[in-house]
Amino acid sequence: SGSKDDGLLPKDKKKPKKIMPNFFLAIRVSNPQIHSAIKIVQDSITTYNEKLTPALIPLATLHLTLMVIHLENDEQIQKAKEVLNQCKISLDPILQNSALTITFSGLDHFNHQVLYVKALGGEEVLKSVVNIVRETFTKEGIPSTDRREFSPHLTVMKLSRKPMLRRKGIKKIPEESYVSWVDMSFGEESVNSLHLCSMNKKKEKDGFYKCEATVTFIDTANEPASTEAENTRGEVDEAQELNSTGDEEQEATSSSTALCDENAGEASKMLRKTLLMRRISPRS
Ligand code: AMP
Repeated sequence: SGSKDDGLLPKDKKKPKKIMPNFFLAIRVSNPQIHSAIKIVQDSITTYNEKLTPALIPLATLHLTLMVIHLENDEQIQKAKEVLNQCKISLDPILQNSALTITFSGLDHFNHQVLYVKALGGEEVLKSVVNIVRETFTKEGIPSTDRREFSPHLTVMKLSRKPMLRRKGIKKIPEESYVSWVDMSFGEESVNSLHLCSMNKKKEKDGFYKCEATVTFIDTANEPASTEAENTRGEVDEAQELNSTGDEEQEATSSSTALCDENAGEASKMLRKTLLMRRISPRS
């Protein structure tokens, strides 16, 4: 947009403007089994109403947000990178050796606007990680732009992705579109790195957000730790890579993207089988 939000109070009498986040700290969720399970839910939503498709989150961007922040310029981005490295020092003892595995299970929503998978297993460790990250960034002058308490979630759909939907009369995510899957087990993600991501910059080739920095927590029995800013991410979701070239295109192709990764395909098949056997009947 043309008007720059510098986070300062406007000179006229209007209410102070809400500071909009443009970067976030996140855990990437890349386990193909989780992707396959989410795809089942997303397909179900598309089948229920095709118009909801643009609100689905592309599998290649799946993540768990730890904190949202506003960074005004390159200098502040640089500062945030340093703060993330500082967090790493406190987080190493907690996250080394894959000590945090998050279990994703069940669906819930924020005010019928955001549909997400609940992050259950590992919640306590996850909360202490978030506390360290939030406290360190705040202490270094980069506070969260969101006052809400941390509520661990993996977003699979949000209406705010497409304001057009609201104009077309879709004001809520219809529960009937996903009710069959509310008790579904989605799988586990082992946490080995944290990313500082840009909300607005063009996505990476693999479809994930542009990361300004990544800190990696290693298995102390293996190689030395890395705090490199690039090339430290996990696997690539190939189907998404082939399909996404930029934000708009990605939004357009996201939900129709087929998982062509072999493992994901296999996992998907097995999962579908298990789920069909376990599938609960829709609530009345
Ligand atoms: P993401 O961080 O990409 O998973 O997006 C989550 C969405 O849910 C964002 O639009 C947030 O503003 C919103 N959100 C996050 N936490 C809460 C919360 N505790 N209550 C309501 N909405 C939330």
